[in-house]
Amino acid sequence: MRLSEFTGDGIMNSKNFYATVNLDRQANRRSDTKWINKHLISQESRILPVWRGQSFVSIGESLSAAYLNYESLQSLKLKDKPIFLGSLNDYSYFCVDLSHLELPIEAVPTGTDKDFIDLRQIGGVMSPDEANLLAYARGISYWHQRNIYCGVCGKLTIVEESGHHRRCENKKCNTIQFPRTDSACIVLVHNGNKIILARADRFPPKMQSVLAGFLEPGESLEDCVAREVFEEVGIHLADIHYRHSQPWPFPSSLMIGFRARAISFDLKPDEKELVSAEWFTRKELKAITPESDLQLPRKDSIARKLIDEWLDEN
Ligand SMILES: [Zn+2]
Repeated sequence: MRLSEFTGDGIMNSKNFYATVNLDRQANRRSDTKWINKHLISQESRILPVWRGQSFVSIGESLSAAYLNYESLQSLKLKDKPIFLGSLNDYSYFCVDLSHLELPIEAVPTGTDKDFIDLRQIGGVMSPDEANLLAYARGISYWHQRNIYCGVCGKLTIVEESGHHRRCENKKCNTIQFPRTDSACIVLVHNGNKIILARADRFPPKMQSVLAGFLEPGESLEDCVAREVFEEVGIHLADIHYRHSQPWPFPSSLMIGFRARAISFDLKPDEKELVSAEWFTRKELKAITPESDLQLPRKDSIARKLIDEWLDEN
């Protein structure tokens, strides 16, 4: 049974974009080479190529994931075997990294309607299952690219477990590396009918969002939320509650979403991190139009979901 079926409305209602909740990862099959190979060469195999962080998509009336089959891999001089992602709707999903090719679009058999595109630009308008698979492929390919050498002794590492471990080839070292995810807390800070939205220089024009920051070693998630909010806007918190989380593979974060109540109100934005931070009422946020000077975060983000949930409550 998958987690999404098991936990009922807690998880299902809080499903975030880029989380592969419907995919069966079949982690217990990753070391079964015979089983993996049988599925890789079958007609039901769908192989997602990733090229320098970009995803392969069909550009028709709508955007959809594009796939390679096993035969089409033979001329591509792959450095490693395809990574097994999991099973969904009778298909077995794999991914391959084509970053070693200069012009992959000439090497893979495509129609004119396919191309490599940054998922950040298109994920939000794709079907969630497909965008989630592309995010998974992008995230794990990114990890492989950056872990070719052992971080302990510097020797080459070897791919194991169908792409889910890398082991140092130096037998004396034998360090195993696992795909890394950077934990970041993101929090909607509220009090009464208002929430805090802030703007950083790197944001798209006009956008303001809830506060976020990376977890540090030795810190609980709740400690991280309290620290980040105090550092960024000088506000003390109470009632820090977990809401839901979102893989954010741009490049390798897990956004862990919280809601917390402010017990002080005087905002002191950290000028090194933020351009501005302000309290906004529900009325102000519900009145936003595409022409407004204030825009909310993109719809496929957990930041937007935390805001929309709060707006919907009243
Ligand atoms: Zn090593």
